[in-house]
Amino acid sequence: MTSPGALRAPTDTDMDGDEHPVRVLRPRRAAPADAVRPTRAEVSLAALRANLHVLRRHLSAAERPPRIWGVLKADGYGHGAPAVGRTLERAGIDGLCVALIEEAVELREAGIRVPLLVMGGYFGARRDGFEEIVERDLTPVLYDPSHVERLGAVLREKGRKKAVHVKVDTGMGRLGLTWGELEPMAHALGRFPEVRPIGLMTHLACADAEDPEPSREQLRRFSAMRAELREQGVSPTFLHAANSAGTLALPEAHFDAVRPGVALYGVAPRRGIGAELRPAMRVRTEIVALRTIETGSAIGYGHTFRAARRTVVATVPMGYADGLSRGLSNRGHVLVRGARAPIAGAVSMDLAMIDVTDVPGAQIGDEVVALGAQDGPLGKDCITADEVAEHLGTISWEVLTSVSRRVPRFYREP
Ligand SMILES: *Cc1c(COP(=O)(O)O)cnc(C)c1O
Repeated sequence: MTSPGALRAPTDTDMDGDEHPVRVLRPRRAAPADAVRPTRAEVSLAALRANLHVLRRHLSAAERPPRIWGVLKADGYGHGAPAVGRTLERAGIDGLCVALIEEAVELREAGIRVPLLVMGGYFGARRDGFEEIVERDLTPVLYDPSHVERLGAVLREKGRKKAVHVKVDTGMGRLGLTWGELEPMAHALGRFPEVRPIGLMTHLACADAEDPEPSREQLRRFSAMRAELREQGVSPTFLHAANSAGTLALPEAHFDAVRPGVALYGVAPRRGIGAELRPAMRVRTEIVALRTIETGSAIGYGHTFRAARRTVVATVPMGYADGLSRGLSNRGHVLVRGARAPIAGAVSMDLAMIDVTDVPGAQIGDEVVALGAQDGPLGKDCITADEVAEHLGTISWEVLTSVSRRVPRFYREP
């Protein structure tokens, strides 16, 4: 269990971190004053580094190990992109990927210097985004001939050149050039030589499934599309396709770089791979009220929990507006004193109730863990993102990215 003493108040000098070893950074989004509430997400920077190390070791068997370009979209999967970016950059990551230009700008403003790949984020006919791409030294992923024209126009105006990556759709059906768009893309690139296609990427739809065949089919198409582009005079040499699952389970998808996201945050993309990964985020709060209710009485909105016995109910200051999904009402668990306690009744916006009848000694001020591990007088246990996802019929990715902006992030070393 984390001692609250490890989390000292942040100071301004902590933010740059270079003069002083960083133990805690300023909580982001929620203002420091919001940290009056004991509900917070603790992010272990050491776990992030350890996970990068796990991936590096995993890839080191290859003759020419691929580079690692970590994925920090959606605020670093809810962990806080600037802090994650700084940590991984210092740990020697080769590059970072984001979904939006805005996300890349946030990282540049946080002082991140490594290459930043913007995988999406051009919407409609606006040119502004491409100006930002050039000004901020970002690497765009282009998947439409019009992108080449718009970026090319900006570059021509400024008398600049830009290396870009091209994305092809090999079976995800989301973004990326379809077969018929390869030729128009090649023509556009021919007209705008200031746009230099050095990278070629695709995205795997089924890499986290046991069956590798759909991924292999996508890789065959990747190879065919690459050959077709070459025929058209476009020969990118830097190839990448693998997400976390592809990184951990599909060596033939490694190419020149891999793009792990969820694994860096310590969550395995599926059972049976990535066992050494360590969850980086832990969401905790404290008991703020306690009552004993008699058999037959009900609690919470809609009275969906009715006591089948004399029940000790604890209230925690964390609700669905914090990311504790209402779908966990009467289903999910939290940890108190190192033991599991079921969520009782409907999770409300700011508060939730838990049944601590079987947690002897539970009292006001006790730490309650909604995500992550706890070591207490009654034992040691862990609520994993997978477990929460299973209750909610979703995936661990969504659990991580659902911890809302009202929950301040605290960064811990180790
Ligand atoms: C999100 C994303 C990734 C990372 O996926 P994980 O499963 O989290 O590793 C890689 N590539 C692209 C294009 C993505 O959108």
